[in-house]
Amino acid sequence: MKIFVINSGSSSLKYQLLDMENGSVMATGLVERIGETVGKLSQKNWPGESRQAEVEREMPFPDHRAAMHTVVDLVTGTDTGVIASAAEIDAIGHRVVQGGETLFKSTLIDDDVVAKIRDNCHLSPLHNPANLVGIEVARELFSGVPQVAVFDTEFHQTMPAEAFMYPIPYELYEELRIRRYGFHGTSHRYVAQQAAAMLGKAADEVNLVTLHLGNGCSMAAVRKGKCIDTSMGLTPLAGVMMGTRSGDIDPAIIPFLMKEKGLDMGQIDDILNKKSGLKGICGMNDMRDIHAAAHDGDTKAALAVDMFVYSIKKYIGAYYAVTGPLDALVFTAGIGENDDEVRARVCAGLEHLGISIDPQRNAGRKKTAIAVQADGSKVAILVIPTNEELAIAKATLSVLK
Ligand code: ADP
Repeated sequence: MKIFVINSGSSSLKYQLLDMENGSVMATGLVERIGETVGKLSQKNWPGESRQAEVEREMPFPDHRAAMHTVVDLVTGTDTGVIASAAEIDAIGHRVVQGGETLFKSTLIDDDVVAKIRDNCHLSPLHNPANLVGIEVARELFSGVPQVAVFDTEFHQTMPAEAFMYPIPYELYEELRIRRYGFHGTSHRYVAQQAAAMLGKAADEVNLVTLHLGNGCSMAAVRKGKCIDTSMGLTPLAGVMMGTRSGDIDPAIIPFLMKEKGLDMGQIDDILNKKSGLKGICGMNDMRDIHAAAHDGDTKAALAVDMFVYSIKKYIGAYYAVTGPLDALVFTAGIGENDDEVRARVCAGLEHLGISIDPQRNAGRKKTAIAVQADGSKVAILVIPTNEELAIAKATLSVLK
């Protein structure tokens, strides 16, 4: 059983071909900087001596459709791929960000499901359209192959009403189902399960704060293995500061801006989703560029990092108060896995909470799961590379069964 997993982010496309007979990865790839002047594709292949082990491309990827076509050409290419043709793929698993109120569980994709995902695009304007293009192109290129959608919202379904309800008129929940849904659920669940294994505890015994820090950032409070709160809300705009999204702001800023600057809702949405966060403060949203600029004396870049770290610290405090005795902080995703400076600064000053990081253990990018707390730290600090693709492949398999 070969499963092709497609995980499109706002400006990236991760893909993986897995052989589920033995759980091995046949090819894995990442297209970065989609929509920018020059994008980058890197793919790693495993089986087959005649194949290239590494495939690199520096070229423009104007949109996700273009990226998908290139990816499928490479995966099935004579030199660049690991399979002879698209016909070798048995199933495709797609990460879909917002399932809305009708799509909470992983499900087989048909026209009805596609229509429902499209209906939910307004709730997740940066991701659902990208996910849909992935699905549409995959359905064209792999016609007849079963395709499964795995939703980011699933892990957060265990939140109690006190956490998922907003303090606005109850009728709005009844009428429009306005509530906290949360996102990145596949990633939070995966790292929570891995963390339990690393701590030598059962999955339903651990109390964790999981930090998914990528371009989009979210945190989850996990009590006894179940999500009890998460920082994103009705949409992925809420919570901690992100690459281009504001995270939490005073909601009254919106009518204030409309009145003072005559902006309409579309313009406000664009500002808060695409021109805010790190980018809004310093003009850049790639943390590598921001660190480089800050180290060169760019004060706005330095402020952006300060704000980012501070917003994460505040959520740790909030979630520490509701999880019960905390077993571990778990860092994951692009920044969480690779950025030792952010990890160190997030944990700095939390020693009174029993959180103490070891500078040597923390140093560098982490390609495999590792504990980086200091000896004697009451709370473990784990860096666990997320593996949404494996989690999606397993979910795809279980839907097909
Ligand atoms: P998403 O899936 O939300 O698009 P990712 O999880 O791929 O995002 O994370 C993207 C973020 O990770 C970017 O801000 C990028 O700068 C950051 N990142 C990737 N590698 C590094 C690194 N070596 N050091 C610091 N930040 C990094």
